[in-house]
Amino acid sequence: MADLPFHDKDDFADADRGFIAKLSPAVIQTADGRVVWDNDSYDFLQGECPATAHPSLWRQGQLCARQGLYEVTEGVYQVRGLDLSNMTLVEGERGVLVIDPLISTECAAAALRLYREHRGDRPVTGVVYTHSHVDHFGGVRGVTGGGVPILAPEGFMEHAVSENVYAGPAMTRRAVYMYGPALSRSPEGQIGCGLGMTTSTGTVSLIPPTTEITRTGQEETVDGIRMIFQLTPGTEAPAEMNFLFPDRRALCLAENATHNQHNIVTLRGAKVRDARAWARYLNETVTLFADRAEVAFASHHWPTWGRGGIVRFLEQQRDMYAYLHDQTLRLLNKGLTGPEIAEAMHMPPELEQAWHTHGYYGSVSHNVKAVYQRYLGWFDGNPAHLWEHPPRESAVRYVDCLGGGSAVVAFARRYIGENDLRFAAQLLNHAVFADEGNKEARDLLAEVYTRLGHGAENAVWRNFYLMGALELSDGIVPAAVDTTTSLDLLAALSVEQIFDSLAIRVDGPRAWHERLSIDWYLTDLGERYRTTLSNGALIQQRDPADESADLTLRLTKDQLVGLLAGKGVGGVEREGDTGALQRLVAVLDHATPDFAIVTA
Ligand SMILES: [Zn+2]
Repeated sequence: MADLPFHDKDDFADADRGFIAKLSPAVIQTADGRVVWDNDSYDFLQGECPATAHPSLWRQGQLCARQGLYEVTEGVYQVRGLDLSNMTLVEGERGVLVIDPLISTECAAAALRLYREHRGDRPVTGVVYTHSHVDHFGGVRGVTGGGVPILAPEGFMEHAVSENVYAGPAMTRRAVYMYGPALSRSPEGQIGCGLGMTTSTGTVSLIPPTTEITRTGQEETVDGIRMIFQLTPGTEAPAEMNFLFPDRRALCLAENATHNQHNIVTLRGAKVRDARAWARYLNETVTLFADRAEVAFASHHWPTWGRGGIVRFLEQQRDMYAYLHDQTLRLLNKGLTGPEIAEAMHMPPELEQAWHTHGYYGSVSHNVKAVYQRYLGWFDGNPAHLWEHPPRESAVRYVDCLGGGSAVVAFARRYIGENDLRFAAQLLNHAVFADEGNKEARDLLAEVYTRLGHGAENAVWRNFYLMGALELSDGIVPAAVDTTTSLDLLAALSVEQIFDSLAIRVDGPRAWHERLSIDWYLTDLGERYRTTLSNGALIQQRDPADESADLTLRLTKDQLVGLLAGKGVGGVEREGDTGALQRLVAVLDHATPDFAIVTA
């Protein structure tokens, strides 16, 4: 920690550069008064770093907690610190183009109001979504009702909703640990998430794009604003793009290069990203755009000015992802497993000395395990790990071998005394999983998690540890907002995704002996799908060859979405065995939104 480059204050200068005005107070509410964003609650971060935070993370928190309207370059503005992400505004001939309208409509509307107070009442003449994550489109109805060009990378719609379809409830639950909305905002509690402060909790919306960007080099002009695109699929998001404003000499880096080491896999859970592709696209960005940019900005954090600074920033980000990828493969080919590579991996000194490569959001430790997982999966090849007992069963046996719950706690105290908090956490986790009523173990584990959290440079690790401590003490905290219920997101599902999400909800054993088939004729799309239930599996097929289904339903896609949301079959034309639908509904299960994590 002594080696951290605290003398380097460039980030503070860049984060303040072009400052115009704050939102005051920085509290954003819904129409009925529910607070969805409160940046003032982070004012404590402007003080000295306390013993309850890692100095490097505290510094990142200070930078991320800045909020307000900033001029990036002539005609280009950013509103930062009014949601997890940034909203960028580029002035055109008639109005203003909005890039990435935040998560919530309330925050996006407040950001646009702040901009207009200082730049005039310009109409929104277009929107760009840089990628398919909700913090880059969810607030769109706060800035426009539609009817303007909306640009997005190829595959945007599919990926914008698919993450929420398949594993949505589990990700939502784990996101509570990742962002820590239930933690106090204080020197002892939540001090951001590295990428920004936290996620807003307002209304999520989505307006489908009108123009897809399908190739690198594609040029588009909106409201007189020229843009040249670089597609970067499979980097930070499956559908993502960088782009240059040649007339402003400004480069948008989406979320491909931000002021932290990003996630190869996010700890809330997601498919593993491709660090190799990520590095290659960043290299291409330098080649394509560096000579034509005076400033580079992204949809999180602060911009970088000057050609030299931009190239250094991009090359270091590129090298970081390439190094993580290549060195993980080098070491796994020597036989090291994920946790062993995580311990062995040391980043190059030049990268260590650059703040923006530090793991505030992603981390070296979990990113190398993600690379391992991408190539080799969960199994490390050791047969001892092939058929382990599940966590609770293992815990009961470990505790038995160690002489009971009290003995485990005593062992844990010894390791805490030796400052081996990692092993103390392993021991105490066994004690709690073996017996949730072991209050001594619970309390001590909460203490260990709290200390691990306070020592973490990574904001997400801190939040996970502190949430674990909180739930050990107070019980399970329900999720605040469930984006899976956004009507816009539901309407954006493809028919195939709707049947997929239905299939995922079939309670297998309950449906073992059920056989039925339903034809769904979507009258507005003119499409027919058959779903067949057999052996607990719901299979979908487009355009079935015959008309032999037990039941045929004629309905619109909206009605299908309504059915899925539990609205019933009113107004749906039915022909055949109407009991088939009831039998299907009867075997559908519900997700458990508040499942246990730190207890069995
Ligand atoms: Zn983002």
